[in-house]
Amino acid sequence: MSIIKLHDKYFKSYISAQKIDETIKNLVNQISEDLKDEDTPLFIGILNGSFMFVADFVKKYHANCEVSFVKLASYEGTNSTGAIKQLVGINENLEGRTVVILEDIIDTGNTLQEIYKIFENKNLKQLKIATLFFKPDVFKKELPIDYIGLSIPDKFIVGYGLDYDGIGRNLESIYQLTKEQNMKNIVLFGPPGAGKGTQADVLKEKYNLKHISTGDVFRYNIKNETELGLLAKSYMDNGDLVPDEVTIDMLKAEVEKNPDAKGFIFDGFPRTESQAKALDAFLEEKGEGINGMVALEVPEDLLVERLLGRGKVSGRADDQDESKIRNRFNEYNTKTAILKDYYQAQNKYFAVNGVGSISEITENLCQVFDKL
Ligand code: AMP
Repeated sequence: MSIIKLHDKYFKSYISAQKIDETIKNLVNQISEDLKDEDTPLFIGILNGSFMFVADFVKKYHANCEVSFVKLASYEGTNSTGAIKQLVGINENLEGRTVVILEDIIDTGNTLQEIYKIFENKNLKQLKIATLFFKPDVFKKELPIDYIGLSIPDKFIVGYGLDYDGIGRNLESIYQLTKEQNMKNIVLFGPPGAGKGTQADVLKEKYNLKHISTGDVFRYNIKNETELGLLAKSYMDNGDLVPDEVTIDMLKAEVEKNPDAKGFIFDGFPRTESQAKALDAFLEEKGEGINGMVALEVPEDLLVERLLGRGKVSGRADDQDESKIRNRFNEYNTKTAILKDYYQAQNKYFAVNGVGSISEITENLCQVFDKL
């Protein structure tokens, strides 16, 4: 589940590839049953949107059939223009044939009306209409539709052959137009000692974002001897990760405390793949998402030096003992570093050189933050 951006608009996942597959199976079953005594029906797809539907439909249709296409134009942007013209016709002799139109979506019915017009003088034996998606709320015509895959509300959708201004047709599943993401949410990433906390203090002011450091929240709870603090202490003192359920619930509570935030810098979270998934799902419920993971890259030897230095000043138990520090790197390398792949797969990973003076590193980070 995720939010994607196509041109200037945001879309959220809506109908899964699996659901589409089941829907097509049902359509094929109904149509196969109805046409079992017919001789070689002709399936006609309405281009461009129906190409995926037609391909998947005929792969599941096991009796003999012919396949052809017509191309009409109706959509401009996200509004139905009403004006339709036939661009590519069909050359087959259709007299006496059973023709089944395969449409990706029927909404106002303007295209459907045109289809009926194109075929009315062709002396067909019968004309059937099958549509994968149907929007009953906006359908204005008194025209029969024989087979409907899924009825959906009047929201603009893309994917599985359907486009928004040319793009999005190659998506495997269907996405629905959603409100624009309001927040700037950034995961500040890097191993212990990379400088996330130091940099977040500067960046939160510059970009007017709320900084949530899960390590700081745990330390605050330990200091105040809360239940959460007592629970987290033994893990933290050893340099182990606190269990996911505890950390995820705590993170959500911190976000909820800031309903008016313009966005968040997440520091020290997510640290495992299940935390990353929980964060995506949590933000998606709010119509929000992660803009990017910005990773500070620093060699390990320099990190150990920095952490031991910090331990002398801060008194943090996990910063004073080299074996605990090594254990934190081990946790990072085995559980956390893989998050690079998680965000890279969404084109949301940005590496920044974390070696240099504090202000030089801030400069490097700002160049990425400005783009997100
Ligand atoms: P930090 O201040 O970010 O280095 O975090 C210090 C310690 O807090 C870590 O070594 C963990 O024990 C715990 N911790 C902080 N964030 C998380 C997290 N997202 N998941 C699990 N444990 C965490």
